Amino acid sequence: MTKQINAQSMVVKSSKKQRAPEIGHAQDRLYTDRRFTQKLLLERGTSLCTRCGAISVEKHWYIDEDKLKVLKKDPNVRQVLCPGCERVERHIYDGEVILESDLLLTNKDAAMGLIKHTEGKAWHDNPLSRIASLTENGKRIEILTTTRWLAHRIGKQFYKSFKGALEIKPSHREKFVRVYWSR
Ligand SMILES: [Zn+2]
Repeated sequence: MTKQINAQSMVVKSSKKQRAPEIGHAQDRLYTDRRFTQKLLLERGTSLCTRCGAISVEKHWYIDEDKLKVLKKDPNVRQVLCPGCERVERHIYDGEVILESDLLLTNKDAAMGLIKHTEGKAWHDNPLSRIASLTENGKRIEILTTTRWLAHRIGKQFYKSFKGALEIKPSHREKFVRVYWSR
C-alpha cells in the first residue's frame, strides 16, 4: 500500500497541474480559449527574431551567432519578432534615460560599451527589455527603453561606474520613468 502511494506521488510530481490540489492551486475550470492554445502551439519549438537574430527554443530567448547561421537556412524555423523587438516595433516605451556629462565626450566608447553591455545583460534576464532608440549629441545621450527596469539599470550603471548624480523620476504616467544621470 505504502509502495503504491509513493509510486503515484513520483508520477504526479512531474505535472504541476496534477499536483494542483496538493500544492493548493485551484483547478482551472474555464474552457480552453483557442486563441491562447494556438499562441502556445506557435511558441513551441524553435523561432528566430528577424529583427535582432535572437533564437527562441521553448520560449527561452538567447543569442547564438553560429546557431543563427544554421537556423536561417532551415525553412521549418519560425521567423518572428522577439518580445523586446515587438515592443520596439509597436513603439512601446516605458523609460527614458538622459546622460549628460563632459565625460561622454572623452569616454564615448566606454559609455557606449556600458550602455550596450547593460542592455545585453538586462535582455538576458527579461527579453522585453530593449533600447528602442539612442540619440547622442556631444555630451548628451538620450535613450528610450521598452521597460522601466532597463532605464533604471542604465542609470545605476553610470552612477556606479562614473559617480556623479542620479535622479529617477516616475512621470505622471505611472508606467513611465525618466532617469537622469549627470556629472
Ligand atoms: Zn529581437
